[in-house]
Amino acid sequence: MEIALVVALDGPSGSGKSSTARGVADRLSLAFLDTGAMYRAMTWALIQRGIDINDPEAVAAAAGDIHIVSGTNPLAPGIEAEGVDVSGPIRSDEITAAVSAVAAVPRVREIMVEQQRAIIAASRGIVVEGRDIGSAVAPKAAVKIFLVADSEARATRRAAENEGSDPEATLEALAVRDHKDSTRAISPLKKADGAIVIDSTFLTLDDVIDQIVALVGDAR
Ligand code: C5P
Repeated sequence: MEIALVVALDGPSGSGKSSTARGVADRLSLAFLDTGAMYRAMTWALIQRGIDINDPEAVAAAAGDIHIVSGTNPLAPGIEAEGVDVSGPIRSDEITAAVSAVAAVPRVREIMVEQQRAIIAASRGIVVEGRDIGSAVAPKAAVKIFLVADSEARATRRAAENEGSDPEATLEALAVRDHKDSTRAISPLKKADGAIVIDSTFLTLDDVIDQIVALVGDAR
């Protein structure tokens, strides 16, 4: 049996991972999985239930009961938590500020990684974006990319995405989240062994997609 192609795309917030991963999946007719959206959906559902997200034991106890359904269409991924379409709400500042604490809880990661591996196994080829895909979720992925960009460029992009937000405050929020994600005890954000680093600071989205599509061609 042919092994389905897995492209693992990791990197810090605002490096352009989502647009890049969706673009690569669309160009190559692959599925797409946004694992950050899963951690965000989990965070949304916990807050909805009134769980204190800064209490790791309470988070761990509740996480197993939360039902998340992730879409894998790169053109319209969508995500549900507890039967609710949370695609919009998970992008709020409240969730963005809370998600790293939830993602640091080992039980949450265990649940998320299990679901991610099941989605990957059921796919016929997939681009998966996150922080620990090449290092922990799919270390045997055919292509592993670590996408980086200058923090100023990342903040400017994020502020442009969230119209009206202040680039300085965005820069600060990104730095806090990167720090939490890179220093947590379990599966911290880091370049995976064998990952190719692409710096998107001075590249257009199409340039980055072209580079990854070429790497996938070499790996196939
Ligand atoms: O990619 P995005 O910014 O939506 O990710 C939200 C958060 O989810 C990250 O800041 C990180 O705390 C967590 N995350 C993670 N592992 C992943 C993907 C996201 O810990 N594979």
